[in-house]
Amino acid sequence: MLCEPPWRDATGRWLATGMTFTPATLRTSVPAREARAVRVPAGRRVSVVDVEGGQVGDLFAFAAADPAEHLSAAHTRASTGRLFPAIGEEFVTDRRRPILGLVADTSPGAHDMLIAACDPARYALLGAERPHRSCAENLRESLAGLGLAVPVTPQPVNVFMRIPVAGDGRLSWLPAVSQPGDSITFEALMDCLLVVSACPQDLVQINGGDPTPLAIDLPQAAPDKE
Ligand SMILES: [Zn+2]
Repeated sequence: MLCEPPWRDATGRWLATGMTFTPATLRTSVPAREARAVRVPAGRRVSVVDVEGGQVGDLFAFAAADPAEHLSAAHTRASTGRLFPAIGEEFVTDRRRPILGLVADTSPGAHDMLIAACDPARYALLGAERPHRSCAENLRESLAGLGLAVPVTPQPVNVFMRIPVAGDGRLSWLPAVSQPGDSITFEALMDCLLVVSACPQDLVQINGGDPTPLAIDLPQAAPDKE
């Protein structure tokens, strides 16, 4: 939503003065329990920052040209042959096209691609008081703010979420171990729309019982290519 301020052009030039300078990074704060959306042009990098540490983010990505096409964790697992993402790998859409690359990660590296976004039914099953915010509803709200709607909640990439798989296939739900300021950085491989939800889960210990904010950092220029 805050992707291209009107006072800069797409390359980061300062339109008011005509001067070109080293482009800054635009930060979009994601309040605890809420979500925000940003548009990311192909070739641009974008980081999700765990501001206070120990917080899971549900990351969704949609093709800007047709938001019916979305990043699919299931298709990505088939493409990479792994349960969880690693630096250098690409996330693909439900049409098996690369949409994001994972280029850097300052966190301990635990990110989940197995668990569905939390939603009202999940909180009802957990006996939560109503209403309880959820990543699925956060996604719907964020897209509605852009005049968009999607018929399904794609399975997200859950950044900083720790769901180890035991040898017998059992999953554990562990608190995130990301530290304050840790970030995971992606490169857009097509023009896309990114939604990041600071997961409101406070009944399962993935956020240590206390959801906190995230941030989306968008450098205002593409990285230099060597
Ligand atoms: Zn959630």
